[in-house]
Amino acid sequence: MKICIVGGVAGGASAATRLRRLDEGAKIVLLEKGKFISYANCGLPYYVGGVIENRDELLVTELELLRERFQIDVRTQNKVLSIDRNKKRLTVRNRETGDLYEESYDKLILSPGAAPRRPDLTGADLPGVFTLRGVPDTLAIDSYIRDNGVTEALVVGGGFIGIEMAENLKRRGLAVTVAEFADQAAASLDREMANLIHRHLAEHGVSVRLKAGLAAISRDADGGMTAVLTDGNRVSAGLILLSMGVKPESGLAEAAGLELDVGGSIAVNEYYETSDPDIYAVGDAVSVRSLVSHEKCLIPLAGPANRQGRIAAENVLGAKKTIGAGVQGSSVLKVFDLTAASTGLNEKQLKAAGIPYRKTYVHPMSHASYYPGASQISMKLLFDGDGKILGAQAVGQEGVDKRIDVIAAVMRLSGTVYDLEEMELCYAPPYSSAKDPVNMLGFTAANILKGDMPVFYAEEIAGLNPEESVFLDVSTPQEARANTVPGFVNLPLDELRGRLSELDRKKTVYVTCRVGLRGYIAARILLQNGFSVRNLSGGYRTYSLMSEDKTVYEGKTLPLSP
Ligand SMILES: Cc1cc2nc3c(=O)[nH]c(=O)nc-3n(C[C@H](O)[C@H](O)[C@H](O)COP(=O)(O)OP(=O)(O)OC[C@H]3O[C@@H](n4cnc5c(N)ncnc54)[C@H](O)[C@@H]3O)c2cc1C
Repeated sequence: MKICIVGGVAGGASAATRLRRLDEGAKIVLLEKGKFISYANCGLPYYVGGVIENRDELLVTELELLRERFQIDVRTQNKVLSIDRNKKRLTVRNRETGDLYEESYDKLILSPGAAPRRPDLTGADLPGVFTLRGVPDTLAIDSYIRDNGVTEALVVGGGFIGIEMAENLKRRGLAVTVAEFADQAAASLDREMANLIHRHLAEHGVSVRLKAGLAAISRDADGGMTAVLTDGNRVSAGLILLSMGVKPESGLAEAAGLELDVGGSIAVNEYYETSDPDIYAVGDAVSVRSLVSHEKCLIPLAGPANRQGRIAAENVLGAKKTIGAGVQGSSVLKVFDLTAASTGLNEKQLKAAGIPYRKTYVHPMSHASYYPGASQISMKLLFDGDGKILGAQAVGQEGVDKRIDVIAAVMRLSGTVYDLEEMELCYAPPYSSAKDPVNMLGFTAANILKGDMPVFYAEEIAGLNPEESVFLDVSTPQEARANTVPGFVNLPLDELRGRLSELDRKKTVYVTCRVGLRGYIAARILLQNGFSVRNLSGGYRTYSLMSEDKTVYEGKTLPLSP
């Protein structure tokens, strides 16, 4: 059988090598329009920042290896221009020679990826305005900074690529501003969780402007540029990176009459077959079914692309393999010293999909607090009335990815919050606590569902009626003096049992503390003494994140490095 593959990076290269491992006799032709195959897109920002110093390290698999070890006919700089589905032939342009030729196939796998969005705005095509997708973009950005002595950069779009580039441009010594059209960066998180990232970027000298899209770019007399933002502000920059999301590269498929799906993606079934049974498609170009909402959606991530390439290869050879119940979009982001990770749907997405949910917040330490170096992780878990996990988010310095990976695995196995309670995870003081943060999420979620801990949420506070409520902060007096939720009166937990008579039994008692743990104990005391009570999920820490709706985070001026 002769199989042609369009696109030689994540999905395409995975499909090609899997095909060879399964079928020594197959003729495999890998057509890639660019100069490089199987490169590390995900590592590109770190080359700009100098973390990855050698550009050869960006190439995951050498071209020669694919050719020699896997006997794959790899053709870089060969762009597929069209597909004749009746004749099962491709028209290809060799970009080195300019020659056009035809290539036949028995089966075709499309993995053309997604292209960065470039808005149709004045100045968006000026020299110095970049998008980042491949190695050539990276090298161009790198040399532009060097050749033009760039000192200021504007990153338009606060998604994963935008934030990673902001960090790496800062590492490179540039003054960096991130402008984001939405009211938050890092869209996979909810706003209150993303506030940790906004703050952290500013602490590391990166300015963040929210609700500020790009309106136009003009060239200045001194050779720099000025970007006009939709909030009316102007930002001067020697380099502007447009990281405004990606759109599926479905033009080739569309011209061949293949069916398209949401967002102009290539429509595929669960086997990654397109509307033509001899053509498969994978990766960023296709839409997938969400594990949680079961709706079709776009999840442009490397993990799914690689696994889909593998599965499509097996199906091309006659298997009927699927990726299981759907894609959950597990992702992780480094932001200077912070890690932000998530899996499943966030609260915004659940609301938009009309899926009923419950939630809990915890802010535990990454490992036993008595062992040096522990740091706080802020975590949020979303689940339904039966305890089925719908999504999770975590932001912190240490151990964030492993917690979200554990929850992602439980979700994939259709687990519930009760499974999180029971998870037996490895423990020693340098790594975790005997009650791991994942267990803590399970405990609090299960307590909410069983009615052991009635909760209220920070966003409900403004709507609570003071006539019918008692508001207590059960932290220590020192803590409550430092900061508390407005209107909450300090009654330290250890005095609560002795002062119950001071509380009006006809009213609902709303309790808070720093992170929700002492509030939980107070709630248990009050419940067992006949009070109607609710504990603030995540305590003051969640309140402070939730009530922060700033649109500008000025980058702090950092001391010059010696
Ligand atoms: C800067 C950056 C950082 C990223 N970081 C992460 C990360 O940390 N984690 C993560 O999960 N994901 C990350 N991603 C996303 C991840 O790289 C993609 O999800 C993944 O590469 C998609 O694989 P793909 O095979 O669908 O497309 P790609 O890897 O984009 O490959 C598609 C290839 O097809 C080629 N092609 C297109 N049309 C044709 C044609 N007509 N003829 C021949 N060739 C063609 C293109 O030149 C391209 O090389 C990042 C992406 C970028 C750009």
